[in-house]
Amino acid sequence: MSRIFNFSAGPSTLPESVLLKAQEEFLNWHGTGMSVMEMSHRGKEFMSIAEELKSDLIELLNIPANYKVLFLQGGATGQFAGIPQNILKGKDKACYVNTGAWSSKALKEAQNHCKVVVSADSKASGYTEIPDYNDWNVDENAAYLHYTANETIHGVEFQDIPDFGDLPLVCDMSSNILSRTVDVSKFGIIYAGSQKNMGPAGVTVVIVRDDLVGHADSKIASVLDYAQQAKNDSMLNTPATYNWYLVGLVLKWVKEAGGITAMEQHNIAKSGLLYQAIEKSSLYSNPVKEAFRSRMNVPFVLANAELDADFLNLAGKNGLSSLKGHRSVGGMRASIYNAMPKEGVAALIEFMAEFERTHG
Ligand SMILES: *Cc1c(COP(=O)(O)O)cnc(C)c1O
Repeated sequence: MSRIFNFSAGPSTLPESVLLKAQEEFLNWHGTGMSVMEMSHRGKEFMSIAEELKSDLIELLNIPANYKVLFLQGGATGQFAGIPQNILKGKDKACYVNTGAWSSKALKEAQNHCKVVVSADSKASGYTEIPDYNDWNVDENAAYLHYTANETIHGVEFQDIPDFGDLPLVCDMSSNILSRTVDVSKFGIIYAGSQKNMGPAGVTVVIVRDDLVGHADSKIASVLDYAQQAKNDSMLNTPATYNWYLVGLVLKWVKEAGGITAMEQHNIAKSGLLYQAIEKSSLYSNPVKEAFRSRMNVPFVLANAELDADFLNLAGKNGLSSLKGHRSVGGMRASIYNAMPKEGVAALIEFMAEFERTHG
């Protein structure tokens, strides 16, 4: 059976070589006679997998020594609640920037724990832009400033890092981590679920600066407490061992492919071709302002929404799957994370042109 090109927003396509490696090692990892999923998380075999996972992530993202790197459960959604409970440090408010569906959810969850200052909001534009940093209403007495680096549903991505002095920046990088170079030292916290760009679902990466660890609300669930998790190497409870292993294989794949700078070049090229094709067509359009278009998630609508069903149906027949846009925005969305080969994007562009020729 041949594999399709899967444009799903998450869980999403994985590098074929990673799947094959996992298959090869499935029953018997490195001559141990065990599958990774059968190993004790305390055993030396799994310990070596865990150590490599962490050191590879540190190397790839160039994470400075004054950061803890945690692999937790509960997804980015768990962190929406975990962040305020960990780092309010006795303050009563936090700043949130609302640029789409995911930042809205983060903001809403934070309201259970503190006052939320909405520093900027692009809802009125239909989440098609990022408000100018000069217009952000940032409260210096807030505990931190939260934003979402890439809005997976709306296809809006920050192209640089906002700078508000000493206020800790907290960033949800769930859908663009490992896709572009990033200066970790600019952040208080970077967090991301694994199922977009790092592997299967089930691992939540939290990179947190030391000064933000150890100040959690006394009623916090232990599994969300950065200090307790750091002290226990993210094994306060049983970790998602097999998923750690798979994320580890993806990190090795990124390293072998040339690291993050190579990923970034591929992503610029792939997304550039797709946006160009949309731009020159009269059937397809993308509502996001050019400066903020995501390299990871490319939403587009057809001039005539009555063609949507035909488009999806024919795309599926051509081996192009999961192109339906999120129900909240409609239309189409092509998620083209690191693991989507350029052949997949080329096949999509060719299909779109052919569909326009026959239906446009
Ligand atoms: C997918 C996604 C989330 C939610 O991740 P879960 O693992 O389902 O909690 C949060 N933020 C962004 C930007 C996402 O893309």
